[in-house]
Amino acid sequence: MGSTAEDFLVASEEKAFDLDHRRIINNSIDKYTAAATSGISRIANLDNAKKKGHVIKWKVMENLDKFLPEFESNFQRRGGKVIWANDAEEANREILNIIQRAKAKTVVKSKSMVTEEIHLNEFLKQNGVESLETDLGEYIVQLLGQAPYHIVTPAMHLSKEDIAQLFNKHFGTPVEATPEQLTLKARELLRDKYLQADVGITGANFLLADTGSVAISENEGNARLCTTFPRIHIAVVGIEKIIPSITDLDLFWPMLSTHGTGQNLTVYNTILSGPRQANETDGPEEMYVVLVDNGRTNLLAQKEQRQGLYCIRCGACLNVCPVYQNIGGHTYNTTYSGPIGSIITPHTNGMAEFKHLSYASSLCGSCTEVCPVKIDIHKMLLLNRRDAVNEGLVTTKERWGWAAWKKGMLKRSMMDFLGGKMKNFFLKFFFKKTWGHLREMPVVAEKSFAKQWQEKHQGEEQ
Ligand code: SF4
Repeated sequence: MGSTAEDFLVASEEKAFDLDHRRIINNSIDKYTAAATSGISRIANLDNAKKKGHVIKWKVMENLDKFLPEFESNFQRRGGKVIWANDAEEANREILNIIQRAKAKTVVKSKSMVTEEIHLNEFLKQNGVESLETDLGEYIVQLLGQAPYHIVTPAMHLSKEDIAQLFNKHFGTPVEATPEQLTLKARELLRDKYLQADVGITGANFLLADTGSVAISENEGNARLCTTFPRIHIAVVGIEKIIPSITDLDLFWPMLSTHGTGQNLTVYNTILSGPRQANETDGPEEMYVVLVDNGRTNLLAQKEQRQGLYCIRCGACLNVCPVYQNIGGHTYNTTYSGPIGSIITPHTNGMAEFKHLSYASSLCGSCTEVCPVKIDIHKMLLLNRRDAVNEGLVTTKERWGWAAWKKGMLKRSMMDFLGGKMKNFFLKFFFKKTWGHLREMPVVAEKSFAKQWQEKHQGEEQ
């Protein structure tokens, strides 16, 4: 095992040459692109909508200390309980406490990236609680013992044949089963679990400050089952998911769905405002919202980079990223992969260990262009690189290499001081490793252009 950065390079190279992986991903992303292009084109005045989303999120992040308590008091007024968790350990412990108090043994879960981030399933398993994913993509990756490959489409890296094989191995369904048959099988297996589980765990796409509600978008209806059948509902949510008002959903819901999957609206959009009230017929007896920080306030403290917290997790920047398309989601080895993962992870999980992700970009700007809340993603990548240098996290060789390059580039006499051979030697010495063994190093000419020009036109009148 090398460092995280070295492992990343090895895994990237392996994935980039995996032709099966490439075929599956290209196929999935082509379908996404066609759907998203048509979905996004239906938004009138897209640029204004993006700007509006950006400004709302800016307002929220600048006033998080106002909006979060507002959410808390409104949610509590209707009988909900809010738990604040500084880190993964606190969040997991609080969730387990609730489960143990209820004497629950099984939990049904709907898709939630923050629970992936805190490794909730593993933690519950270690404590004797079975936690079952009910989103089909999540269910598939859980069966495989893998982490989600993509923040929106967790099983994007698998073909329908792969999934048929997996179901055949676990449940004996025919290997030639169609996607419809496999979905029906999963549905049959999961239905009873909703009825048996005492606790349902979900994430949330938005927290609404003015009504004290949790808004969840999903396409399968499983989150609704997780939040209505079990006696207890726990929503685990990152603190950045807050928006000021329920009325802001008319902007954020279509922006999320069109950019995430190309749909005008996600199939099921649910707003939950606390446990079942006296005059209501369904809903949980108890409802909790666990507000998770887990490094988010470190990012909030970065004035220039805090816009990484505006993200609504649509996944669009992953899909358009040429690096993601080649190396895939698992290679990043982080909960949030692709461009958004590369800009936030160095702040939430540590610059020293994850700075390399900010270099895993061609800086083409496609991510910035597609982002529905106008996060200046490729600028954030550069700012992270700057911070890594300022924090002294680059190697001595690299530091010296750039210092020598700068000195040489600033003065003609310095630039001409070394001949081409020596320049090529130093270029290789300092940069060969980062350049990679699959690319030819550029070769510097023996004489500079200025020198050649001078020689060619010697004696001519100026
Ligand atoms: S950074 Fe923007 S494009 Fe990427 S997932 Fe977040 S909202 Fe979507």
